[in-house]
Amino acid sequence: MAEIEMVVVYDNYPGKKTLQTAHGFACVVRAGERAVLFDTGGSGQILLENMEKLGLDPAGLEALVLSHSHWDHVGGLNAVLEQNAELTVYMPAVFPRSLIKDVRQRARSVIQTDRPHEVLPGVRTTDVLDQGIAEQAIYVETAQGIVVLTGCAHPGVVQLARSAKAASGREVHAVLGGFHMAGASVREIDLVIDGLRRLGAQRVGPCHCSGEKTRQVMREAFGPAYIEIGVGAPLSFAQAQSQETAHSEN
Ligand SMILES: [Zn+2]
Ligand SMILES: [Zn+2]
Repeated sequence: MAEIEMVVVYDNYPGKKTLQTAHGFACVVRAGERAVLFDTGGSGQILLENMEKLGLDPAGLEALVLSHSHWDHVGGLNAVLEQNAELTVYMPAVFPRSLIKDVRQRARSVIQTDRPHEVLPGVRTTDVLDQGIAEQAIYVETAQGIVVLTGCAHPGVVQLARSAKAASGREVHAVLGGFHMAGASVREIDLVIDGLRRLGAQRVGPCHCSGEKTRQVMREAFGPAYIEIGVGAPLSFAQAQSQETAHSEN
């Protein structure tokens, strides 16, 4: 069965020793020969160095999805566009106009999102949710359900996972990325765990801005199903069969 691979290339938490950690998030999602980058971290230099050490060539990416416009997610944007001007960039339509215009001049195309868009077969954006800071996540169809990847999750990680579930019509299998829960109380963390489990989530991998306490409480709650994420951590999931068929027909 074909696999969908995800490699975190930028994060606050360490994974592989040779890679740099920094505040921000970026993750490469690969389906066969095709790859997309989700967010770009805060520093283009760190992003490109980490990708190089992981053998991931920016020129091989076909799309870039930006979750929201904070610097720790779009800081590496220029560096990525310098390496690859053939990218299709998916960015929330509410991004600053000057930024959209700038990217439009430098990328192959820009898709302004507010509703889900297919980025690769089996990889889609969620709705853009806006509770002050507009943000989208992406989700991947796997054999076990959908895997949701969040940038900072300012609108709420449960809300973004719920949006992904509604768009896909499938159970959530795992939720990974920044959960924006630094400073959350144990009670608040428990409520989020409950919310994610109601959506079907069996696994979680909080990183970036999730907060150390969130990681601890979720590590205990999910036990062996907890996913320890850091820079360079490779994750793979069996591709959903319908997507595998769709993919091999291309
Ligand atoms: Zn943010
Ligand atoms: Zn962030």
